[in-house]
Order: sequence, then C-alpha cells, then structure tokens
Amino acid sequence: MNALLVTGCRVIDPANRLDDAADVLIIEGKIATVGRQAAAQAPSDTERFPVPGLVVCPGLIDLHVHLREPGQVAKETIATGTAAAARGGFTSVVCMPNTSPPIDNAGTVALIHEVATVQGAVNVFVAGAITKDIAGEEMAPIGSLKRAGVVAITDDGHCVQNHELMRRALEYARMFDLPVMDHCQDYSLVTDGVMHEGYWSTVLGLRGWPAAGEELIVARNILLAETTGARVHCQHLSAAGSVRLLREAKKRGLPISGEACPHHFTLTDAAVAGSDKFWRTDGKDILGQGPPDLPEWSAYDTKFKMNPPLRSAADREAILEGLADGTIEILCSDHAPHCDYEKEVEFDYAPFGITGLETELALSLMQLYHTKRLGLSELIAKYTLAPAQLLRLPKGTLSIGADADLTILDPNREWVFEPGAAASKSSNSPFYGWRLRGKVLAVIVGGRKVWVQANEAIPA
Ligand SMILES: [Zn+2]
Repeated sequence: MNALLVTGCRVIDPANRLDDAADVLIIEGKIATVGRQAAAQAPSDTERFPVPGLVVCPGLIDLHVHLREPGQVAKETIATGTAAAARGGFTSVVCMPNTSPPIDNAGTVALIHEVATVQGAVNVFVAGAITKDIAGEEMAPIGSLKRAGVVAITDDGHCVQNHELMRRALEYARMFDLPVMDHCQDYSLVTDGVMHEGYWSTVLGLRGWPAAGEELIVARNILLAETTGARVHCQHLSAAGSVRLLREAKKRGLPISGEACPHHFTLTDAAVAGSDKFWRTDGKDILGQGPPDLPEWSAYDTKFKMNPPLRSAADREAILEGLADGTIEILCSDHAPHCDYEKEVEFDYAPFGITGLETELALSLMQLYHTKRLGLSELIAKYTLAPAQLLRLPKGTLSIGADADLTILDPNREWVFEPGAAASKSSNSPFYGWRLRGKVLAVIVGGRKVWVQANEAIPA
C-alpha cells in the first residue's frame, strides 16, 4: 500500500473550519485521516514525513496563470510553469487561453491535458476562450469546450468589447454552468495607455491607462450578470471603483466575483518612477526596515509594466480593504512570463506582465496576514476553498477521500527572492532582491512529494 504520514504540523483547512495540531495520513493518493489519531491508523509500511512546527493546508490553487504552451515556449512551458507553481506552493493552476494557437477549440484543450499529464509537476486545469481566436468577434464553441473539460472561459489579455456578444456568451456559459472570467478593459478609454493615468504618468511622460477603463467593464459585467444570471468573475482587479462596484453588487446577491494579484496590493505607480521614489513615498511601510537592504531599480523599468497597471496608493488600499472584508474572495498571480529581450526595450514597447507564481504567497502573507488584515485561515481560503468553489474543482479541501494535494509552509520564514533560484523560464519579476516573509517548504500532489525545500526534486 502506498501511504504517507505528514506529522507534527498545524493543519489549516478552511473548508472544514479546521485549525489545529494534527497529522495527515495519505493512502493511495487520497486523504485518509486528519487528526491526532492518524499515526495510529497508519499501515506498517507508511512513509513518515515529519514537518514539525509547519503549517499544512490544502494544496493552493492559482486560477490565473499563463503557461504559454502551445506556441510561446521560449517564455514558459507546461513543465517549467508547473515547476514554478510547485515552488510557489501551488498544486493546481488554471492556464489562460491566449496561447498560440489560442485555446478556443476542443483539440487544443486535449493537447494541453495530454502534455500536462506527462510533463506537469502539478494539476493543470484549462480555461477556454470566450471568442474564436480571442478576437472578440465571434463566439467560441462553448459547449464543445465544456465537453473537452475547460473549467471556465475567458479572453484574458483581451476583453470582449461588444456588449451584445458578451451577453450571448454569458447566456451560453450559464447553460453549461461555466463561469466567465473577464479581463476588464474598455479599449476606447484605455487606448494605448501603458501605466496608470495619474500624477506619475504625467511626470514620466507616459500615456495613461485610466482606472475608469477597468471600472466601466466591471459595471458592465455586473449589469450583464444580473441580466443573464450567469456567473461572472472579474480578473486582476486594480482600481478602487471596481471594488466599490463589486461590493454593492454582492450585497444585492448577484453572481459576481473578483480576484486580486499581489503586485496590485503591494506596489503602486510610484514604482515606475524608480525605487527611490517608491520607497520614499508609497513603499515606506512595505518592507518595514529602511536602507541599506532595500532593492533598487531605475525609472521606466519594464518589470513594473503590467495590465492592468500598478495604480495609486488609494487604489492599493481599496484592494486590500476589499480582500479584508471579503468583497474580493480570490488571490492569484496573473503569472505572465516574457523573454528578457522582449522586456529590454523602451517602456512603451515592452509587453505587459510579470511572473508571479513563486512570490505571490509570501507577498500575500506580508500584505494581509502579517499586517493583521486577515487571519491565516482566511488567507488560505482565498487560495483554496474560494477558487475551488468558483470553478467547481474537486480540490481545495482536506476532507476524507479528497485528492491528497498539500502545501506545507512556514508563514514567518524570511528569505530573499534571488534571480537564478527561480524555476520559471522567464525572469520578468519586479521582486528580485526583495526580503520576503513566508516560505513554502514542500508540496504534495496526489500523495507524492513533488517539491521540497533544499531544491531536491523527488521523482514523481
Ligand atoms: Zn488579464
């Protein structure tokens, strides 16, 4: 019998309202027992995995990841992206459909499932496109995508501008019980904006991406969720107005939800003006201690260019409040790898996006748990229970019989995110050199140790 006993830990399982000292017994890849009695029930040949003093929780889920395969494997592959996921504490990821070709048909979904089964370090769930070619003109075959196994549809990277088309897509998605995830961006307002429209865009002479460009589409999505009854999920929220709209809509019981990414609730647009400006203004309280230890970067660093852009300190505060009061239920990375040569150009010409899988848990702990805005269990719920519920995944819980996906972490351990130590194929992270607090030490997927600290990959 294949059995593993994880011992000596504090088990936090928001789905079962559990936060207690316990052992976890895994048999044949499934959770067999959680509790002090687990050791007594373990078969004689059980492998023991002592993790004294560490937190064990259901394997984390990141529902917003760009794995770049097929078609853009110079940036990332399913193998490297899922390796980065494991190192960041994630046992399941949802990959976005803006690959080349895009995931707008059943064949591409099958291809990804196949490659992920062989090469993936963690579980890969697939999001299909809303429209053919992600062109925003014609609906993708939503029923056929659902049969192929997609867990949601989204045109992420793009946003369906035609409201009538979006309405019809929502009606179809509802018939197939698929949530629709939306990258909220009004093209006519945003035009070719490259950073948040505000003080710093004026100072730096860069074209502005106004907060209203996001808020308009969040409002549109709320209205259409009400019209159609479909479940709409607003991706990577960055603006205060978006949080306010979502809060009001949820009060009215509408099927609308939202997610936030650590860069939007850690950094602000001042970071685009360079580390000096950031640490002296909006960054004052982020890392606690002052110089000499603060990371440095120059103005116009393209590692601080993403879509939606870093916003004002007031927007950042609103996102943190939205996470604290439950308006925003889900945390994720929007892991968006790009090659160095693509990012090493003028700010205007660089692609949007940063990697995030390996730093998102630590940044979330720092900005939400260590600042006492959220308890540890509440934070873990936003990476487990909440995404599993939205996408109806049989994951995110340590219930008996569930898949034995576990994340093992020390929420207090300090570490520095070093270039070269990351598993992602790309290095477009703004957080290199940052002293982070909160570290994943091991990840178990389906009862197998997929990654443990000391960079020792255990054969699956
Ligand atoms: Zn997006």
